[in-house]
Amino acid sequence: MTEVDIVVIGAGLAGLGAAAALRAAGTRALVLEAAPRIGGRAHTLHPAALGGAWFDAGAVWLHSAERNPLVPIAEAAGDTLLRSDELRQERTFVGTRPATAAEQAAYDTAWDRFAAAAAPLLAPGQPDVPLAEVARRIPDDPWAVTVETWEGPVICAVDADAFSLRDWHRNQLTGSNLVPEGGIGAFVARRLGTGLDIRLGTPATRIAWGGTGGRVAVTTPSGTVTAGAAIVTVSTGVLAAGAIEFAPALPASVQGCVAGLPMGLALKVVLRATGPDRLDLPSHCSLDRRIGRSGEPAMMFQCWPFGRDYVQGWVGGTPAWELARAGEGAAADFARAELRRLFGGRVDALFAGPPALVTHWDADPLIRGAYAYARPGAADARVRLGEPLSDGHLLFAGEACHDGLAGTLAGAWISGQRAAALALTATGAGR
Ligand SMILES: Cc1cc2nc3c(=O)[nH]c(=O)nc-3n(C[C@H](O)[C@H](O)[C@H](O)COP(=O)(O)OP(=O)(O)OC[C@H]3O[C@@H](n4cnc5c(N)ncnc54)[C@H](O)[C@@H]3O)c2cc1C
Repeated sequence: MTEVDIVVIGAGLAGLGAAAALRAAGTRALVLEAAPRIGGRAHTLHPAALGGAWFDAGAVWLHSAERNPLVPIAEAAGDTLLRSDELRQERTFVGTRPATAAEQAAYDTAWDRFAAAAAPLLAPGQPDVPLAEVARRIPDDPWAVTVETWEGPVICAVDADAFSLRDWHRNQLTGSNLVPEGGIGAFVARRLGTGLDIRLGTPATRIAWGGTGGRVAVTTPSGTVTAGAAIVTVSTGVLAAGAIEFAPALPASVQGCVAGLPMGLALKVVLRATGPDRLDLPSHCSLDRRIGRSGEPAMMFQCWPFGRDYVQGWVGGTPAWELARAGEGAAADFARAELRRLFGGRVDALFAGPPALVTHWDADPLIRGAYAYARPGAADARVRLGEPLSDGHLLFAGEACHDGLAGTLAGAWISGQRAAALALTATGAGR
């Protein structure tokens, strides 16, 4: 039996953010993490398939850098932040050929037309509709479903017809995207866990809440932790799977929030070049193609990121779940087929070497997807899931609970810090 002021479940960005705030307040806080490492969906690998180069299996960018609280932490520590947007070049194909200058100009302005078509649907009093409704309003715009594909499956990991337009609108990313040199997971492991009391390999299996004075008791395989409050930061996928038993059961309103915020899936497929061919693409090049219809399975690529010798395909939503079920070979074949339609047979010679690297967040029982999206009509569930239970003695935090930076490291961190402030108020712990 361990007794602390506040117990935090999960050492992803939300749990680390909460623990940092609790430590700053002088509280006895303990973080229970089921995995053998911290970071959750921030995880840098050095796979042999990429010759040992660093590769982030989950998060890559510090999005919305100008309002991202992790940026000043990295800067203060002297870490190098690569300015991805300034280095990036873009190439777009129409069918099997590069877009003409006129097509490219039409594509460049399509994002504004998409936003303009969305505006009346977002007016106060309008029902929350699927994101797919926007492109339906501009059927003659040849680029509308390409924008939709980026905004739905590619960026938010969900099909446009299953995704709340309000949720999309509230959580649009703005400003710059920075990449910590050496990987974001490495940055998190290096900078955000120090000085915290974290028990790795220690899953919470049961949380008894609502005890005397609001006390909680968290069961783990290595004993029970009692505390004045618990902050639960596991994904909505883990909550929905019932991996943690709550006693008493969570109120129906909370279960409704979890159901309204399911996990989407983004799958990365990485192919390493075996020869000098670079497909006539510049270094650090974003590659996409015009999408013909809503829901068309499509993969967008980052080619030769920061000068490295591989391309990384990104697919989200239903095609990602289907490829994950079909297996790594199917995902790699899909990536090759997408590239072959643009570059022909040279793709097969170029990527004939090591097997592709495919990420599998769906199969990780501690995560169960990429990040949460709101179903149409459920955009408010993010805020409601973050509301305190038991007068602030039981709190949920994580990327799913942030409204504005949902689905990001920054959103998770901020939501953890907010939960910590609420727990401190509820328990009176700290200085
Ligand atoms: C492929 C992919 C790409 C992404 N790209 C970006 C990006 O470029 N930029 C960005 O900002 N965000 C990105 N994200 C999203 C970002 O990674 C997440 O929003 C963020 O990491 C979520 O943090 P969290 O703390 O809410 O949850 P998690 O990271 O899931 O942390 C929860 C922790 O709880 C642990 N846990 C689970 N069950 C238990 C239990 N029973 N007991 C104890 N511990 C438990 C888990 O192991 C995990 O460590 C990406 C995510 C993915 C998957």
